[in-house]
Amino acid sequence: LELTLGLVKPDVASKPEVVKAIREAIIKKNFYFANTRMLTLSQADAESFYGEHKGKFFFPELIAFMTSGPIFAHVLARDNAIKEWRALMGPTKPSQARKDAPQTLRAQFGTEDTFNAVHGSDSPMSAAREVGFYFPDFNVD
Ligand code: ATP
Ligand code: MG
Repeated sequence: LELTLGLVKPDVASKPEVVKAIREAIIKKNFYFANTRMLTLSQADAESFYGEHKGKFFFPELIAFMTSGPIFAHVLARDNAIKEWRALMGPTKPSQARKDAPQTLRAQFGTEDTFNAVHGSDSPMSAAREVGFYFPDFNVD
């Protein structure tokens, strides 16, 4: 069993029917929810969480977006969870996802570029950091 951090971003966390559809898609792909919380990121939290993107052209928009409303943070568990969750999310840009991977969450629920509905850890190292970021008391070992 592997753990990964999945976020439902503010563009869709405010839409109950989309939150439900995403939850059902996650369960259908055989993930377990090991932990869940709803929260709103502060400016400082968002800048820290996305620290690796500081200086990129989309960083200010990304921070404004991610602090614009509540999000759901999920610890998702299954075999190969990191890769499987990124596969379910689809390509970063929803417009590209709609072309290349129409079944994915970003294709179905993302709007464009930054506003892409969901986030997933991209490596075991980032998964450990990101689970710890949202769930400091959660034992990842
Ligand atoms: P995430 O980290 O959210 O799971 P990702 O790993 O597919 O997505 P990253 O390259 O880590 O993509 O970028 C983090 C986030 O920054 C993206 O999810 C998206 O919201 C935004 N972003 C990335 N690239 C662009 C871009 N070229 N234009 C606009 N926004 C972007
Ligand atoms: Mg990323």
